[in-house]
Amino acid sequence: MKTKINWQKVDNLLPVIVQHAQTCEVLMLGYMNPEALEKTLAEKKVTFFSRTKQRLWTKGETSGHFLNVVDMSLDCDDDTLLILANPIGPTCHTGAESCFHQFESQSEGDWTWFAKLERVLAGLKFADQESSYTAKLYAKGVKKIAQKVGEEGVETALAAVSQDKDEVVSEVADLTYHLTVLLQSMDLEWGDVIAKLKERHQGIGLHPEGSNK
Ligand code: AMP
Ligand code: ZN
Ligand code: ZN
Ligand code: ZN
Repeated sequence: MKTKINWQKVDNLLPVIVQHAQTCEVLMLGYMNPEALEKTLAEKKVTFFSRTKQRLWTKGETSGHFLNVVDMSLDCDDDTLLILANPIGPTCHTGAESCFHQFESQSEGDWTWFAKLERVLAGLKFADQESSYTAKLYAKGVKKIAQKVGEEGVETALAAVSQDKDEVVSEVADLTYHLTVLLQSMDLEWGDVIAKLKERHQGIGLHPEGSNK
């Protein structure tokens, strides 16, 4: 990969987009010189070349908020790098998860939002039961949550049988919420379910070139 990069074209500063490996949220953009890339590849923590500091800058070097590299990909013409990372703590120095948090409206992507919902629900496992229905549900245990999943599943089926689209959406929302809580209560997550789906649907051409490498 290193040898493919068109360093001349980018004046030795490669633009790098860092994306959250689970939620796909864009966390930040920075630049790498060849040394920064070398260090990133070696240490699996994102290191930029800081244009303000004019030196190598490992994101998190003072705050501890590192970006642990999961995977990376060059773009079509080898002049921009996309990194998938697991962030340790907030990425932005303002304390926000992402440096891009100044949207005019709530236009966050649906799947990013869903992934965040899962994290919020995970965080409620040991929350105050008085203030949170979810915390109360966790406290009742797997059996009770499983029963709710059963009920919502039946309600979903009944709504579908009566061809009521609004009702189906509403019941699938209930079901999905309870399934998420069920998974969490068993120390599982949607990632485990998606991994299983991927396994079952290998080679169905989700890749643009039809390659299933
Ligand atoms: P850190 O790399 O998180 O230890 O932060 C070190 C310094 O880099 C901070 O004091 C900020 O000045 C700057 N900084 C941290 N995070 C960002 C960021 N996401 N974008 C721009 N500057 C940052
Ligand atoms: Zn390009
Ligand atoms: Zn920022
Ligand atoms: Zn329901």
